[in-house]
Amino acid sequence: MKKVVKFGGSSLASARQFKKVGDIIRSDKTRRYVIPSAPGKRNSKDEKVTDMLYACYDAASTGASYKKILERIRSRYMEIIDGLDLNLDHEFDRIEENFVKGIGRDYAASRGEYLNGQIMAAYLGYEFIDAAEVIFFDEEGNFEADSTNQELSERLEHVERAVIPGFYGSMHDGSIKTFSRGGSDITGSIVARAIHADMYENWTDVSGFLVTDPRIVENPAVIETITYKELRELAYMGAGVLHEDAIFPVRKEGIPINIRNTNRPEDKGTLIVESTCRKPRYTITGIAGRKGFCSVNIEKAMMNAEVGFGRKVLQVFENYGISFEHMPSGIDTMSIMLHQDEFEEYEQSVIAGIHRAVHPDAVELESGLALIAVVGRGMKATRGTAGRIFSALAHARINVKMIDQGSSELNIIIGVKDADFEQAIQAIYNIFILADM
Ligand code: ASP
Repeated sequence: MKKVVKFGGSSLASARQFKKVGDIIRSDKTRRYVIPSAPGKRNSKDEKVTDMLYACYDAASTGASYKKILERIRSRYMEIIDGLDLNLDHEFDRIEENFVKGIGRDYAASRGEYLNGQIMAAYLGYEFIDAAEVIFFDEEGNFEADSTNQELSERLEHVERAVIPGFYGSMHDGSIKTFSRGGSDITGSIVARAIHADMYENWTDVSGFLVTDPRIVENPAVIETITYKELRELAYMGAGVLHEDAIFPVRKEGIPINIRNTNRPEDKGTLIVESTCRKPRYTITGIAGRKGFCSVNIEKAMMNAEVGFGRKVLQVFENYGISFEHMPSGIDTMSIMLHQDEFEEYEQSVIAGIHRAVHPDAVELESGLALIAVVGRGMKATRGTAGRIFSALAHARINVKMIDQGSSELNIIIGVKDADFEQAIQAIYNIFILADM
């Protein structure tokens, strides 16, 4: 049995947190490969080391004063290594030299993980493997999955236990390249794939995925098991915790991910799997949503008989590089739902383009819409799910502007007014989770 364990920034923000992480790793011998993030926030007012590194680099590379912020970064690490037989002076000298030289922002940001990796390796007595030697990006900065997988699996084959810092790798010319923010999750997944791990544990500061956003619903239930597909749907609609791209490497290998809480290691967390026979506890797995959509409503008599109508309309959006979210249609009507901020700049050109392309009777815009995704494998072949959603919304006096159920029966998307968003989520939560508890 082999596990890859990734620890997020808040799990490694201080000496106290490091101690908890050490205990977690030592309590299970199969936790052999460790992926640390950079130190995160110790409390809500604190700063993430990654943000401090960006700021420090921007100052140092442009000749502005940077010593104070570098000192603050150094003291974050000093607090962590206090009591450890480790000296980071030479590392900081080299970092400072490179910053002043203007070596690159990605290099700067990556030092947070790099230093935490050094510390973690010393702390555990594990081998340190620099991610720059095993994770690769092409000249355009795209992650190279195949060469990385090969190098990493060969390298780790004979290494019993190792620490590999998250978030970065290197380009062919040797320069450092990072993933997007929160990218240590991706590193963990890549390592899990390379060593054919039995489990990828992702340790954070919550006890797993919550059924919905705790800022909207007080104390929502934790999701025990979720499939990759369901997670994709929820993550797309804004549910956080794991980096969106982190599921792809492990998904290829059918490796489960377990989201765990460093501050409550006794909690089981959420298990993310390819497929499962386990019956979900509730009919729905999760509810997520986003505000800030608009719709372009097109009307034309006899639209249904006009071959190629939809294609011509969508071509107009494609011409402006705008992707659409949903496209509910009637016999003589068609609506295209879009992200308002992506669309605003082009709205008049798009309307003109649609007129030219399909000569509609009318084109209308509606803004201030929110989309809510109700997701769950348990909905498949279960009668009455849609009925329950809509009666809950009707009782809450919420008008439904759009409905879209995918053929997979994995989700139902509902469009409501922005102003009704929170209340709609609460109503759906109440009917499926509270009522079934
Ligand atoms: N430290 C990086 C960030 O703050 C990457 C990570 O934590 O995963 O985004």
